[in-house]
Amino acid sequence: MQYPKLELIAEGKTKRLWSTTDDKLVIAEYSDDAMLYHAKQKVYFAGKGHYCAEIDSLLMKQLYANNIPTHYVDRIEENCLLVKKAEMIPIEVVIRNYAAGSMCNRLGIEHGKKLKSPVLEFCYKNDKLNDPVINEYHVYAMELCTPEELSVMCYQASRINKVLTSLMAEIGVLVADFKLEFGRVNGRLVVADEISPNVSRFWDKNTMHRFEREGDPSYEYQVILSRLKKVCAGER
Ligand code: ATP
Repeated sequence: MQYPKLELIAEGKTKRLWSTTDDKLVIAEYSDDAMLYHAKQKVYFAGKGHYCAEIDSLLMKQLYANNIPTHYVDRIEENCLLVKKAEMIPIEVVIRNYAAGSMCNRLGIEHGKKLKSPVLEFCYKNDKLNDPVINEYHVYAMELCTPEELSVMCYQASRINKVLTSLMAEIGVLVADFKLEFGRVNGRLVVADEISPNVSRFWDKNTMHRFEREGDPSYEYQVILSRLKKVCAGER
């Protein structure tokens, strides 16, 4: 079935959301001109939306295969995914396996240090406030979600971390950290938004840095996508 984009219902830093003829489904259109989540810097290259949509769809399918509910329905264009419309919970769940970025600044931990155990952080999703770090007391006081929902989010986040780290280990990639968002679909929590290099630090295990090639901002996305395609197709 064809799903034309009807009305623009939301526009964020990396995606546009469009309504469809089915009020339970929306189209997530990935932009080429996107903000890198961690560095908060603009990265542009032609085809970025396509790489992110394809990486995201491969990863969402892996979660589904591991019985983790997501909003993903189908990839309908190079840079567009059909997803279930969710009532988004305004919390970003950050999962960290290695110290990097704001964690080092806040806690004085050396960049690149492998953490003894994974760290889960919550951030209040609010661009004007710069998505501040919060804890569960803030979550309940601000009524961002229920205690039951928060415990499902934490449980699923650590399951996703296991799935993602073992999948990425097969392709020589360390999952230093990544961000998840959840939403309610028919009262049930699902993983929504995206999982891609836009919202993750995926490091080359040999260098402990992003995959980099001078003058080619698409390199990291190309490497991760081509390796993921092979592993997801069963070529190991
Ligand atoms: P970031 O998530 O990196 O902070 P952003 O908040 O600017 O970026 P985008 O990632 O561009 O937003 O996405 C646009 C909006 O779509 C976000 O508000 C996101 O929460 C929302 N969204 C993602 N998935 C769904 C979904 N399945 N249903 C409804 N809204 C969704």
